[in-house]
Amino acid sequence: MLLAAKINLLIITFLVAGTSAAQESLRPDVPVAIVGGMLLDGYEAEPIHNSVVVFEDGRITAVGQRLNIVIPDNAVILDASGRTVMPGLIDAHMHVDLIGHGEYDDYYTFLNEMERLPEAMPIAAKQMLRAGVTSGLDLGAPFQILEFRERIRRGEIPGPRLTISGPWITRIDMAGIPDAYEVVINSSAEAAQRARELIAAGSDVIKTWEGLNEADYRAIVEAAHAEGVKVHAHLYDQEDIREAINAGVDVFQHVGSARNLPYDDDLVAEIIQKNIPVVQTISHRIWVFPATENFPERLYDPVYRKDMPADFYEEFIRSFEDIYSLTYFNDLEEETRNSELSASQFIDAGAYMGVGTDAASPLNMHTEAMWREMSALVEVGMAPLQVISAATKTNAEILGQIDDLGTIEVGKLADIIIVDGNPLRNIEVLDYVDIVIKDGGVWYSERAAFGTVTEIGHAF
Ligand SMILES: [Zn+2]
Repeated sequence: MLLAAKINLLIITFLVAGTSAAQESLRPDVPVAIVGGMLLDGYEAEPIHNSVVVFEDGRITAVGQRLNIVIPDNAVILDASGRTVMPGLIDAHMHVDLIGHGEYDDYYTFLNEMERLPEAMPIAAKQMLRAGVTSGLDLGAPFQILEFRERIRRGEIPGPRLTISGPWITRIDMAGIPDAYEVVINSSAEAAQRARELIAAGSDVIKTWEGLNEADYRAIVEAAHAEGVKVHAHLYDQEDIREAINAGVDVFQHVGSARNLPYDDDLVAEIIQKNIPVVQTISHRIWVFPATENFPERLYDPVYRKDMPADFYEEFIRSFEDIYSLTYFNDLEEETRNSELSASQFIDAGAYMGVGTDAASPLNMHTEAMWREMSALVEVGMAPLQVISAATKTNAEILGQIDDLGTIEVGKLADIIIVDGNPLRNIEVLDYVDIVIKDGGVWYSERAAFGTVTEIGHAF
């Protein structure tokens, strides 16, 4: 056990070192000082006005009020006046193989099963980074994603830092997706064995899907924990949740997002008492669909044409011809009925909340998913500052990466976003991120393409 933990630590050290070496070319070769913005550091703390954040070689070296910080003489100044500086967002449930296409079956037919995945993933990755998502947890993809992750690490493709589950474990074969997405098991012993194989093949976390019983969960949890790996369970039904609690599953995904009546109070109380992180993904169907009905124009944002190869774009647009017939939204009426009640249940009870989007499920594009989810969480009762802290600090804790990510503090990786305006007043100012800094590499949007950022950064 101890030896395994040490080996894991060695591997992690190696990976982090590998990351920084590969991305050095994207970094400015001088210190950078972000000056004059309102700083939200990731904690649920008062903002720091007229702030300074200095970073160099990919790490944060100074944070504070302008009066108290000595800016290095050779630093490039990024003027953040009128803007908010905050940690890069972390999406604790996303899919980098998806682009928001309306129908999974048709999408995988278009991709020729998985042949064109290497073309799809860069679209999603760039959209995520541009939306301020500097880290993401991919919960379900074939192991091709490992090679893709290396391309991001080498700086060949703009994208977030990826933590991945690889294929999920299930007893129910999901129709319409290629076999390499899932591991279908028939016994608990097989579940444990397959979990060990997934970890050996590269899974950072184990994702469980549907049809599993308590003994399956126990077997998977035991196998995963022996390797220091967390188990994330896709959960909706109350009985499944009880079994997952009993088995010691680490993170609950989708709970309280839709479909169900609010859960029993004692169930919610137990989740809170055990401090199990909850990633609700509330907006993936029930906020996204009405938003599309009210404003179908969102589907035709010219940015999508720019982001995709022509035939991808054509197929993407074709999939929206009749949004009322899309399979994904078949049960929307039933799912929506208790949605606000069930979405607010964990928040009202004070649960340990992460933030995940399930993007890019149908119509839930990476360009918008994160701010939509954060906005939906504000609608059902979280304060903007709480949501921001959940989407940064708490998500870093859920990923086990809080030593490097999630807050703006000296010594952490320089993962920082700069947005125009005040998200504490209106969380939806996050719909356009001016500047995204990942691992000390600086990216800027069209609207922010002026001043020193154009000298040290890369245009999206
Ligand atoms: Zn998902």
